[in-house]
Amino acid sequence: MAGPEPVTARDEPLVRLTGVRKRFGDHQVLHGVDLEVARGEVLCLIGASGSGKSTLLRCVNHLERPNAGRVYVGGELIGYEERGGRLHELHERRIRAQRARIGMVFQHFNLFPHLTVLENVIEAPTRVNRQPREPATRAARALLDRVGLGDKVNAYPRSLSGGQQQRVAIARGLAMRPELMLFDEPTSALDPELVGEVLDVMRDLAAGGMTMIVVTHEMGFAREVATRVAFMDGGRILEQGTPRQVLADPRHERTRSFLSKVL
Ligand code: ADP
Ligand code: MG
Repeated sequence: MAGPEPVTARDEPLVRLTGVRKRFGDHQVLHGVDLEVARGEVLCLIGASGSGKSTLLRCVNHLERPNAGRVYVGGELIGYEERGGRLHELHERRIRAQRARIGMVFQHFNLFPHLTVLENVIEAPTRVNRQPREPATRAARALLDRVGLGDKVNAYPRSLSGGQQQRVAIARGLAMRPELMLFDEPTSALDPELVGEVLDVMRDLAAGGMTMIVVTHEMGFAREVATRVAFMDGGRILEQGTPRQVLADPRHERTRSFLSKVL
């Protein structure tokens, strides 16, 4: 009898969450989330404010520590190790090393204001990864070219538009050569005319095969770029599927009601 195909490392989902729960005090925010993201996938996470999107994203790189459940990235358990049948939180240094392989872009760009654009991008590779300054600079210039900011390497963040600052933040996230990029409403703080340039960079990144989890209210982006859309409601993923399924033909009344407000 022929057995199943052997499972290779590449067939493993890059991201796997099982039963992830999170509460703040006695407020249960995530109610046991299961989620898988394959390599090269772009998962758009949508849902009303307060539904737990940011908390879920922050659990992926252990900026929030789940109260239960597990998060795996690239097959590696994030934030914890198993010893004697129990989970123990990893040393902060090891958590930082795990986090370095996961790029994250926030709504507010969080650039270092006292550093130039180039210095912002080489900060982590040189300080955290102890990369020599010269190759780090070369790589950073290439990344800044890629996000259309090759002429801004010596500028300071305050002299840039919000859209430019967010593109620097994306270049900075890419500088550690992450296998996964997390975006938490990356265009929500931008003036409407600056949203497109940031989405274009993200679209490019997706086309290049980057695995991405994107929390967004940009339904056009989700429709065009996402390989999968997941709708969160009250700390649960209520439904997920192709953009067509979820955005055009949602199964749940709550999804329909949410979409009627944002579309
Ligand atoms: P979303 O990103 O979907 O708007 P969040 O994950 O930010 O939702 O928040 C989900 C719920 O968790 C909200 O009720 C929020 O007030 C609460 N919450 C988030 N972070 C914290 C925190 N650090 N302390 C206490 N409550 C929090
Ligand atoms: Mg949020």
